[in-house]
Amino acid sequence: MNLKGSLLIFIGPPCCGKGTISRLCVEKLGFTQLSTGNLCRHHIEIGSDIGKEIDFALKSGKLISNELITEMVKAWLEVNASNCTSVILDGYPRTVPQARDFYDFLSSSDEMNSVKIIHFQVSEECLMKRACGRLVCKNSECQQVYSIEGKMAPKIEMICDICSGQLIKRLDDTLSTVEDRIKTYYKHESGLLNCFNELGMFTFSLAAENDVDVVFANLKKIIGA
Ligand SMILES: [Zn+2]
Repeated sequence: MNLKGSLLIFIGPPCCGKGTISRLCVEKLGFTQLSTGNLCRHHIEIGSDIGKEIDFALKSGKLISNELITEMVKAWLEVNASNCTSVILDGYPRTVPQARDFYDFLSSSDEMNSVKIIHFQVSEECLMKRACGRLVCKNSECQQVYSIEGKMAPKIEMICDICSGQLIKRLDDTLSTVEDRIKTYYKHESGLLNCFNELGMFTFSLAAENDVDVVFANLKKIIGA
């Protein structure tokens, strides 16, 4: 795979700030962010074999299998990793089977040392507060996330800093759906963390309730950037 920097695995609940920190890593450190969601859409668009399988799974109302997701991530890394400094895996591995498969892949490609697992830690109360004040750019190509107030607020009220698109509240950010998403997340999180532990993969804790600048500075310390 021949990565020059690190392979970062960000783990944390919805609204923990992973997205914002990933964006800072991309903008300020030149990292590459690999979103499995975007990668799925890309494969469907170009009509690759993987894309056809994903499309079939989605159309028949099934979940995309762990194997398929891992295959897709592996294929991407094998082609692109050597051109990247560091890569942030966004939303992968999400389940225990994915973590095990990914571990096998890393061992076989001798890249275990470049992996850093970062666990974003935020209290549930803070997550709920953040979720309710979250705005997103309406432009589907952009989808930049903002907060209603504080440092992550847009420069002009309800207007996207990047594309000048209109900002809206995310439809799935109502209290009850956010609560559900957070609960579902925590149901899987302990299994995933235990799995990394069993595999001997060290997990760094990142206190993500702090100011975004502080969180980013602490992350840089952890990864030596
Ligand atoms: Zn925008």
